[in-house]
Amino acid sequence: LDYYFKQIEKNEHLNAFNEVFFYSAAQQAKLVQEKITAGTAGRLAGMVIGIKDNICYKDHQVTASSKMLEGFVSPYSATVVERLISEDAVIIGRLNCDEFAMGGSNETSYYGAVKNAADHTKVAGGSSGGSAVAVQADLCLSALGTDTGGSVRQPAAFCGCIGLKPTYGRISRYGVIAYASSFDQVGTITSSVSDAAILLEVLAGADDHDSTVSKHVVPAYLDGLKNTAPKRIAVLKETLESDALDTDIKETILKAIEALKSQGHTVEYVSFDLLDYLVPAYYVLTTAEASSNLSRYDGVHYGHRNLEAVSLNELYKQSRAEGFGEEVKRRILLGTFVLSAGYYDAYYQKAQQVRRLIREKMEEMLSSFDLVISPVTPTPAFNIGENIDDPLVMYMADIFTVLASLTGIPAIAIPLGNNNNGLPLSMQLMARHFGEQDLLSLSHAFL
Ligand code: GLN
Repeated sequence: LDYYFKQIEKNEHLNAFNEVFFYSAAQQAKLVQEKITAGTAGRLAGMVIGIKDNICYKDHQVTASSKMLEGFVSPYSATVVERLISEDAVIIGRLNCDEFAMGGSNETSYYGAVKNAADHTKVAGGSSGGSAVAVQADLCLSALGTDTGGSVRQPAAFCGCIGLKPTYGRISRYGVIAYASSFDQVGTITSSVSDAAILLEVLAGADDHDSTVSKHVVPAYLDGLKNTAPKRIAVLKETLESDALDTDIKETILKAIEALKSQGHTVEYVSFDLLDYLVPAYYVLTTAEASSNLSRYDGVHYGHRNLEAVSLNELYKQSRAEGFGEEVKRRILLGTFVLSAGYYDAYYQKAQQVRRLIREKMEEMLSSFDLVISPVTPTPAFNIGENIDDPLVMYMADIFTVLASLTGIPAIAIPLGNNNNGLPLSMQLMARHFGEQDLLSLSHAFL
């Protein structure tokens, strides 16, 4: 813990942490130390872990990197936090992220951008940018993020880490600040596949507080890593043919495919013709859900309140106008629009139908393949400030990650070395629902 405290101090300029839990982490470490001595320590004993600042931890501040929640102290812990602590992990602090997890560069955070440790002029990715940089720069051993449309996988890819988004419903969302509830999922950012496996083992599984969590048995993922049986792998043809794809990323993925073949796996190129519909469907549905989820921030129940308002309506309006940042407001507006009476059928309902089509198509593909390969991102980490004023460019960059989110399937981002400028490159693997073991085993054998 001392080592990580020093690392955090040395790397303060990266802006990865919104707060370091010096006191509670030290207390917990002492307790774990005693348990280790007594031989009663849990499965995560000694794992120093950071949590994204949208995951509630009792008696600690949680802000979703928004002014709206500045100073808000959570009265209870998320299920994932409870599970970490019950297995003797040490939670070292809360990590910077895009405001309410809306963004892909960590630049929408009220607390400012996080810098990529590989190059301080580049973004960390987002929304779990702090989580990725904390692992990249060795400020903690591993980190929790949340992934609604790529927020664990994309920053992991930009920072050379392993980012796992489990199946929707694999991990409880209780105590996780909601963005789009039918997409949100807690995920892990780690520097080894075995850390991802042991964490998933601890975090996954039924929870009385969240009825969307599956009762599917939780496999022994860590033991399962030994399984290296050959897999049937599909490559989404159009994703590698896309003009937007960086040539270094394309080439490293092509090399990885050759390596997988030589390891005895079957790899086939498969056409996926719905690529153009992914980003539109994702942004119609997630903004709709967000506009509903964020209606609770009214200046009365939580966080920021305007003190000059003379009527209730004014109080709502002023508190929300002051508390939310620009990107969050844009999404509330968009979401309210697509849900409005006159446009519901044309946008929201249509997007739901498209989501179903995409899901059916992927399920069909995954009935004959164990795994699916695509890039995680079209480019390596871009410059801080480069895209932030162009929301459409930002949204389009999510093209490869939102597929797993729309369909609820698990996906992992794995690092494939760096380009000539030292920026990490990566590849994405997806599997069928509850196929995390396939993702983890193949990644483990491959890396
Ligand atoms: N970049 C995507 C978005 O802004 C993903 C965010 C996320 O997964 N939380 O919606």
